[in-house]
Amino acid sequence: MYEPITDAQLLEVAERFGTPTYVYHAEKIAEQYNRLKQAFSGHPTRIFYACKALTNINILKYLKGLGSSIDCVSIGEVQLALRAGYDKNDILFTPNCVDFDEIVEGTKLGVNINIDNISILEKFGHEFGSSYPICIRINPHIEAGGNYKISTGHVDSKFGISYYQMRHIERVVKATGLQVKGLHMHTGSEIKDVSVFMRGLEIMFEIARESHFKTLEYLDLGSGFKVPYKDDEIGTDVEDLGKQLTNAVREFEKEYGRSLEIWFEPGKFLVSEAGSFIVKTNVIKQTPATVFVGVDSGFNHLIRPMFYESYHKITNLNNPNGTKRIYTVVGNICETDTFAWDRVISEVHEGDVLRFHNAGAYCFMMSSNFNSRMKPAEVLFIDGEFKEIRKRDEFEDLLHNQVEVL
Ligand SMILES: *Cc1c(COP(=O)(O)O)cnc(C)c1O
Repeated sequence: MYEPITDAQLLEVAERFGTPTYVYHAEKIAEQYNRLKQAFSGHPTRIFYACKALTNINILKYLKGLGSSIDCVSIGEVQLALRAGYDKNDILFTPNCVDFDEIVEGTKLGVNINIDNISILEKFGHEFGSSYPICIRINPHIEAGGNYKISTGHVDSKFGISYYQMRHIERVVKATGLQVKGLHMHTGSEIKDVSVFMRGLEIMFEIARESHFKTLEYLDLGSGFKVPYKDDEIGTDVEDLGKQLTNAVREFEKEYGRSLEIWFEPGKFLVSEAGSFIVKTNVIKQTPATVFVGVDSGFNHLIRPMFYESYHKITNLNNPNGTKRIYTVVGNICETDTFAWDRVISEVHEGDVLRFHNAGAYCFMMSSNFNSRMKPAEVLFIDGEFKEIRKRDEFEDLLHNQVEVL
């Protein structure tokens, strides 16, 4: 069991590195990775960290050290993965709506490639034929996950090739001689219900059974594992999923006549809970309607609440056991910039440091310099030490790549 970072330690981090700062707990990442590994130990399973959640090079290296493979959605991520030391065979490239050249670039780097569009499949088939085995991303049309914006399996989604188009996929594969070595689906995020994954798996079995793909080596179930955000929430029961899935695949292998690896691509599951975002309270503002807590950050640093109504638990590090009061926590960006409405937090005073929980996944990664504010620092807690793994932006960063022609 890992030891959580204490409030006192986070206050020291605020003192030493300033605020706002992202703090990641390495051991929590390891705990999540090992938990997943253990849950699927009954069947050959590979875990590909969906690195778009958090690509700091140290995090990539750390997960590699744990034995993880890596899932990338851009050629930039593929290059980062190579830089972090991942072997090309341990890299999966799952792009969507990219230029064909970017996919060709992926083949030059020799990574596993996932194709999610018929026109690309055709192009790829004409260019590479049987010389470069690929994986096909299917849209199983399963409604799942949290906010509609983060759900990818529904009928309006731009992701994957509809499984109603299987006949068309097969025609392309047959005509071009493409080698299909894997099937992939990723239906969204925050899927608590194990049966959703099992439905996805059944659809993959059906495709494997009815198509002429007799060369499959793996079934990639993507991700979507839910992690708890609120105190009373529970995440996906990965142990239960592991049992059900292992049994189902073992049965299917007998029928299919080949062994099939299971692949997963967790992002949030591995890094969300490991992250905290610490900010300082600049002002308390009483209005006729509410009490605002205004902090030294905004949606330029943590956009998830404004973008898709994500809930991040907020605690007051300076006064954890104080009287509970109701606040609206806002940022300093000159636009509507609300982190939380009507949130119960221990009494906040100006100068107090607040902690946003679950700030490891899709937080720093979506930060920007909007309002010409500096991006925050990132700190990794590893082997009992806090290490800065990204410096806070400086003024010159605001001008980086600008060309002064006047
Ligand atoms: C974003 C993404 C993931 C990770 O999803 P999480 O909900 O963070 O686990 C996995 N696979 C693909 C293809 C993705 O785009």
